[in-house]
Amino acid sequence: AAKMKGRNHYCIYEQAMNQTTEEALLIENHLRKAIDNNELELYFQPKLDLVTREINGMEALLRWNSPIFGNVPPDRFIPIAEDTGLIIKIDNWVLEEACEQNKKWNHSWFSTPLRVAVNISPLHFRLPNFQQVVANVIEKTGLEPNLLEIEITENSFIDHIDECIECLQYLQKMGITVAIDDFGKGYSSLNYLRKFPIQSLKIDRSFIHEVSKNREDIAIVKAITYLAHELNLKVVAEGIESREVLDILEEIGCDEIQGFYISKPLPKKEFEAVYRSLTKSLK
Ligand code: C2E
Ligand code: MG
Ligand code: MG
Ligand code: MG
Repeated sequence: AAKMKGRNHYCIYEQAMNQTTEEALLIENHLRKAIDNNELELYFQPKLDLVTREINGMEALLRWNSPIFGNVPPDRFIPIAEDTGLIIKIDNWVLEEACEQNKKWNHSWFSTPLRVAVNISPLHFRLPNFQQVVANVIEKTGLEPNLLEIEITENSFIDHIDECIECLQYLQKMGITVAIDDFGKGYSSLNYLRKFPIQSLKIDRSFIHEVSKNREDIAIVKAITYLAHELNLKVVAEGIESREVLDILEEIGCDEIQGFYISKPLPKKEFEAVYRSLTKSLK
């Protein structure tokens, strides 16, 4: 009986596994064609400088409008893209599209120069030719390098410290800034902060959303802010959903914020309208 039971369990387990693998395979097949079929779109979320009270940049966030699956959230398809290597092509598309759009905006729309931030997968960042990819996009689009920011997570550095330093130094020489995204969420050590030429830390949303109710979260946000400033880095907080949280972060001395309280990520036309109205109302 025990054997039977074990076997049944195995079958159920295998079935469940197959289902998700099948689903992932299906998504992969459609994702492969998504770029050529124009199903990918960039949304932009404004970043607010807490000192000047001006919009000083935006993060490009990828959206996939699939005719089959509808709107697939990045947290669903990015991991599949990473597993299959498709992420390289996707990130390249995002990088070029974001630079091209920001070049247009800075030359026709914005009253002060705005920087666009692009998320790069650890897998992509670690490729030996990543710095060349960035240099090519800058050359092709003509965007001023200081108007591009790269967001990478701490996982990008695991086991590749020396190569990472080299790449970061190259980007820094070009004038491109680098932010550590989801800071505090992973398991990595603080060791790299001593050596890496980066410009800012983005505190993970999980420490922000209950910061008004939670002493532990306040302690962590204060400590990260102190650490960052002592290291000459800027501190960005993501996931601000209320005035109350904005006020707490301002008091702590956070430099920049991003969140639904300011604006959700928006398609480019809507971003233009929101940029215009925010630029007036924040003054
Ligand atoms: P992320 O880079 O940490 O992006 C921030 C996420 O928080 C975005 O989710 C954004 O829509 C969401 N967000 C912003 N403000 C708020 C807020 O006030 N409240 C809440 N609840 N959420 C907020 P999104 O767009 O679904 O992206 C999820 C993740 O997918 C990103 O996290 C990033 O890791 C990845 N991703 C998105 N676009 C790209 C891309 O072009 N390339 C790569 N490699 N990854 C991407
Ligand atoms: Mg990000
Ligand atoms: Mg983040
Ligand atoms: Mg993330």
